[in-house]
Amino acid sequence: MQARFGFAILISKQHLRLNCILNLNMKQARPRFLILCFDALRPDMVSKETMPNLHRFAREGVRCKRHRAVFPSETRVNQASLVTGCYPQKHGIVGNKFFDPVASPGKLFNTGDENQLMEGDRRLGGKLVDVPVLGELLAEHDLSLATLSSGTPGGARMLNHKAESLGTFRFALHRPDASVPRNAVVEMQEKLGPVPEHQIPSLEWLTYSTNAYLNYIEPVLRPDVCILWFCEPDNSYHFRGLGSPENLQALSRADQEFGRILDWQHSQNEESPLQIITFSDHGQLTVCGETINLQGCLQEAGFTVGEPPGKDVDAAVAVDSAGGIYVRDSDPVLIGRIVEWLQQQPWCGPVLTRNGEKSLKLEMAGLDHPRAPDIALVLKSNDLENQYGIRGGCMNNSTFYPVGGGLHGGLNALELQSWMAARGSCFQNESQSKLSSGIVDILPTILHLLDVPVPEHVQGRVLHEIISESSECSTPEMKRVTHEAQGAGDYQAKLEVTELGEHFYLEQGWVEEGLK
Ligand SMILES: [Zn+2]
Repeated sequence: MQARFGFAILISKQHLRLNCILNLNMKQARPRFLILCFDALRPDMVSKETMPNLHRFAREGVRCKRHRAVFPSETRVNQASLVTGCYPQKHGIVGNKFFDPVASPGKLFNTGDENQLMEGDRRLGGKLVDVPVLGELLAEHDLSLATLSSGTPGGARMLNHKAESLGTFRFALHRPDASVPRNAVVEMQEKLGPVPEHQIPSLEWLTYSTNAYLNYIEPVLRPDVCILWFCEPDNSYHFRGLGSPENLQALSRADQEFGRILDWQHSQNEESPLQIITFSDHGQLTVCGETINLQGCLQEAGFTVGEPPGKDVDAAVAVDSAGGIYVRDSDPVLIGRIVEWLQQQPWCGPVLTRNGEKSLKLEMAGLDHPRAPDIALVLKSNDLENQYGIRGGCMNNSTFYPVGGGLHGGLNALELQSWMAARGSCFQNESQSKLSSGIVDILPTILHLLDVPVPEHVQGRVLHEIISESSECSTPEMKRVTHEAQGAGDYQAKLEVTELGEHFYLEQGWVEEGLK
């Protein structure tokens, strides 16, 4: 038995499929997981009408009603939290773009770019993410991960960035050429054909992703855990607007494809029961009003702006509706001057710094990491309805996303509230959890159900309250805490957090005067 176990490990780097088969034979009773992300799906947009399959799934299984993203409420940040069970303060992916002098000398590191991520991890000696990721934790216990994403190329890598060294499967619809292992990628594409052209709404990509799962990942790879990432409704929110006809079409197609997965599951025998977890990584708001030119405004105010910050450059800016400002030498006097100036601007929302001088503290939002910006900035947002009757709007510092389109990254409750529902023999039936939970909790919950010890550094918790036959009976007490910061003039920022024992979940951040 010992020799066979060693053999399984030895071949796992080269012969993924065989390894999976051995895994299966050795662990008949162990549950398997499909973790399906509907990128950016707002829980308030899931109804019997918009997404009947998902709606029914949540009713029959268990739904987490108070599920939360981490801040910044951006995709790659939350993906890193999904696969580490940690806030950015521990995993180090502090924004979709950030400075790291080793990973990307002299310029902002763009986590959406597959090549930059790969190169950054190499330059950092494999330490792009500070803590072990899901693929590594599973591999230590001879369990396999497969990931497939129709999101950004960088996001596809972020879910499984150690796939090359672990010998696990990672496929990016945007970058089949950067997908691995090569023989599996070729084999899958021979079965499915080439990836169709990318469009918005990304309907065909949802179908291709589902075909890949049903016709290749499940029957051929049969991984212990699969992360399947749907790029909708994120794409259609961003570029067509929340609630627009194209967006509703995308919700409908995403739901139909999910329905195909449920039908397939229904037709399977129960020997190795599949547990399905559905979630979203964050919400989204409607871009409204004029686009702010933060760089231009800073320059008008007398600050020099460029990339990177340093000699002759006071500040580098990586802000859409939220983001960060990196200040020359992290000079506290200069940081103070910029913070004070920001707080006098009509579009300024919550401001967070390392020391919390006249601002909220990065630590309060789980963002105090050496790579974090000197100043985290969220532009103002509101609760107004867009033209399709969908609540929540924000200002924007970029022209990339159109006015009327969607954006996320900040601390509005509608950005932080995310979808989470699970169904399977491991989970409770026909129930709802009103306890706070978050994207950081998915990893420890899965590890627990797979009988894999949850490492001590993991910040999320096992969601005992959604597990069937859980041995944990005590219900942790929820406590609402509001952090406050008094800044320049009458500027006052607040950050509402729910504490649950040693765990915390971000509810919302806002400034008191004017727009929320
Ligand atoms: Zn996202």
